[in-house]
Amino acid sequence: MTEHFINGKRIEDLEIIISSEQIQSRVREMAALISNDYRGKRPLLIGVLKGAVIFLSDLIRSLTIPLEIDFIAVSSYGNSTASSGVVRILKDLEQSIQGKDVLIVEDIVDTGLTLNYLVDNLGSRQPKSLKVVTLLDKPDRRKVVFEPDYCGFAIPDRFVIGYGLDYGEDFRQLADLRALDE
Ligand code: 5GP
Repeated sequence: MTEHFINGKRIEDLEIIISSEQIQSRVREMAALISNDYRGKRPLLIGVLKGAVIFLSDLIRSLTIPLEIDFIAVSSYGNSTASSGVVRILKDLEQSIQGKDVLIVEDIVDTGLTLNYLVDNLGSRQPKSLKVVTLLDKPDRRKVVFEPDYCGFAIPDRFVIGYGLDYGEDFRQLADLRALDE
């Protein structure tokens, strides 16, 4: 097998936290649950750019209900502002969500600040319902009380990459979730 390097790291040396097979199987389970909960509805799934793109693409292909998708991009705060919870919208939705069943699709909940902000912001736009699905959750890192409605995996406090999650824009394309220990 050819060695696979990204950003000077040998990918095979990074510990697999959750394998591609585990992810695929859990995403199908979550899709079954969501399809059941939204039966008779046509939810608008809002992917949070860029990390949630791969999760959203896999999730919607296993959903058995009609649906729409849209995307929102928010700034990730630096360490200095993390405690203030300041989040800025870099790219907004293309449409009004008034009266819609909205499901925010996120890659990971860490401090909870991003989703706390998004739920507040989107909640003020009068959706009919508003829920959150996240692939990953690091509950130990919370700075604000936040509980996702659907969660794929709770993980320990380690920095993970792959399956859409990046480190300096690298590693998003990896099929497995791996730990990048500094
Ligand atoms: P929160 O606002 O909950 O602290 O952070 C959410 C965002 O932080 C995620 O959408 C993601 O962009 C980033 N993040 C948090 N933990 C990790 C991680 O372990 N790996 C990567 N790549 N990004 C993370």
